[in-house]
Formats: sequence, structure tokens, C-alpha cells
Amino acid sequence: MLKAWFAIKLWQRVLGALVLGIIAGFVLGEEAQSIRWIGDLFIRAIKMLIVPLIFFSLVSGIAALGDLKKLGDVGGKALALFLLTALASISLGLTMGTVFEPGIGLDVALAQGSDIIAPPDMSWTDRLLALIPENPVMTMAEGQILPLIIFAVLFGISLLMAGEEAAPIVKIVDAGAAVMQKMTMIVMELTPFGVFALMAWVAGTFGFEALLPLATMVGLNYAGCFIIILVVYPLILRFIARLPVMDFYRGIFDAQAVAFSTASSNAALPVTLRCVQRNLGVSRSVSSFVVALGATINMNGTAMYLGLVAVFGAQLYGIELTATSYLLIAVTATLGSVGAAGIPGSGLIMMSLVLSAIGVPLETIAFVAGINHIMDMMRTMTNVTGDATIAVAVGRMAGEIDVEEYVSDDDV
Ligand code: ASP
Repeated sequence: MLKAWFAIKLWQRVLGALVLGIIAGFVLGEEAQSIRWIGDLFIRAIKMLIVPLIFFSLVSGIAALGDLKKLGDVGGKALALFLLTALASISLGLTMGTVFEPGIGLDVALAQGSDIIAPPDMSWTDRLLALIPENPVMTMAEGQILPLIIFAVLFGISLLMAGEEAAPIVKIVDAGAAVMQKMTMIVMELTPFGVFALMAWVAGTFGFEALLPLATMVGLNYAGCFIIILVVYPLILRFIARLPVMDFYRGIFDAQAVAFSTASSNAALPVTLRCVQRNLGVSRSVSSFVVALGATINMNGTAMYLGLVAVFGAQLYGIELTATSYLLIAVTATLGSVGAAGIPGSGLIMMSLVLSAIGVPLETIAFVAGINHIMDMMRTMTNVTGDATIAVAVGRMAGEIDVEEYVSDDDV
């Protein structure tokens, strides 16, 4: 029985749970409220991961850069392009969410009679001061995300500055990040149950109108990813790398197919590297550095998605987004896409970072969890294509690309 359960892929179980949950909701009606606690249990388990996951993955990501000095030329250019594309992607997600309003028309918070969490009314200086943790342990204990990130980033930079002396700690944070990835996998196993219960509750309480926003979300996620792949990346290839665009897409297709089917940048990494080196002619040193770093920290599809979900959640719970909220979304979605591991579903976990920063209830995650995998596949393909685009651009700027190889059509 257990064997048969695990023989089915997790995303298929989640999708099945989504469908069954909706059916159960229609059958049970208001009664479905009685199984909502299973969904709440799932959300608590996700919350449990946030603090250690952010700390370990951010610190170990920064430590993976190696040496602040060695980072030099290639690293600086790659990071600038990673940041530029992440911000463009987040803006796209925010714009689409604002224009198409996928979360409007379903006022979950009011229907539930629960309090809307208003962002605290603070002055600019107070907000700025609140970013600096007076006590990092307290910050972690209280689950304050932004000060935690500031502490983690400073910790990572200090690790790099300390060099050899800090090597044991680098080992520990790397191990910690690996452990948290495993723990995330365990929690992900709860997804089918959480999704079943929450979908039953949503469908039972709100009926058919609740399902429309989900279909809109899937559509917007795909549209946003296509825009990044077909507009943003070609602009970089055309104007920064000054290379023909079609040759790029012919050369990278295998990596895209693996990324789409596995929903994991890490799983696609070997294929991406091979495509970038053999088909696109980028040198070994530049390609391994940029593509490996990119698979960990450059996730434009995920960044776009985080922006979109933040707007969706705010609309769902009737929370007004101010200029400060948009800024917070831009910062946390960038960090979330950096912190997300290149494994299936990690974008879903990072959502908690963005949502909690702007005071949107984490229950939003439950709404999109059931359709996460279908969207994850497309996000991952976008992420991997972005890594290859930036490897080509940096290779071109550093004179480390064989243009003949790039334009030749004898791809492997
Ligand atoms: N699965 C994605 C990746 O590996 C991350 C995400 O969940 O958005 O690139």
C-alpha cells in the first residue's frame, strides 16, 4: 500500500489530491470545514522550515561564491545580469498580477471573518531600524524574515572575508543547507494531504467561483515565463552578447526539455552545462562558474512567480499594497529566488518569505500548492534558459566564447 503510494510521483499525487479535494468539497459543502485542520497542519510544517532554511541556504549560497576577491570580473558581470533579469521578471509578475487581478472576486478573509493583517503603521526611519536585528537569536525566534536575511547575508560575507579560518563553518552551513533540503522533501510529502483538505475547504465554502482564480494563475504563470524567454533573454542575446538568437534556442533545447520535465534546475545542470559548452561554445571556466552559480541563485521564472503570487495573495485577502509593499516584494522576491534551491517545489516554500514580509496570510500558499507543479515546470525551464543566456553574455564580454561553434548547427 505504502509502496504503491510512493511509486506515484509526488506532483501526480498532489494533482490527484487537488482534483479529489475539489470533488470532496462539492460533495461535503460547508462540512468540508471539518478537515481544514489537515491543511493547517501542512502550513505549520512549511512555517517550521522557513527560518533554518533561509539561514542555511543563503549563507551557504554566498559561501559558494568562494573568495570575495577572486569573484572579480566574471562574477561581477554575472551577478549584475542575474540581478537585472530578476528585477525585470519580478516587475513583470507584479504588472501582470495588477492588470489581470487573478485574486479579485474571492474575498477569503472576509468570508472567513478573520482579521486582515494590516502592515504596521511605521515611519521610514523605524522601518529602517527594524531591519537591523538587535539580537539575531530573537529575530530567529520571532521569525522576523527581513532582519534574518540581513544577518544571514552579513554572516556569509564575513565567512568569505575570514577565508581559511572559517572553513569549518562553511562545511557546517553547507551540511545544514543539505539537511534543510531533505527536511523540505519530508514536508513536501504532506502536500497531497494539505492540498486535499484545503481544496475541499475552498470548494466546499466558496464553490465554483474559487476555481477560476487558479486557472487564471496557471495562465499568467505560463504567459509571464514565455515573455521572459521570448523577449527578455533575446534582448540580452541581441544587445549584450550581440549574437543571433535562433542559434541559441537550437543549442539549448535539450536543457530546456530536461528542465521542463524534471522541474529541477539542479537535475538539468549537467545537460545545461553540456549544451552551453558544446553547442554554444562558451569556455569551460566561464560556463561552469556561471551555469553552476546560476542554477543556485538565478531563477527568473521563480522571481516572476513570487511577484505574481504576492499580488494574488494581497487581492485574495483584500490587503492594499503600498509603494513600500512593492519595494518589499522586489527585495524579498529577489532574495527568495536566490535562496530557492534548484529542486522541485522550492519556489513554493520561498513564497512564505515574500508573503510574510508584506503581511499577506501564508494560507495563500495553500491555494496555489495544488497547481504548483504545472507552473514549476515552466518556471524551471525559464530559470535554466536564463542561466544559459547569461553564460553566453558573460562569455562574450570576457572573450570566452567560440562564435563559430555558437552559430554552427552541428549540435550534440
Ligand atoms: N523548481 C525550480 C527550479 O529548480 C524552483 C522553483 O520551485 O521555482 O529551478
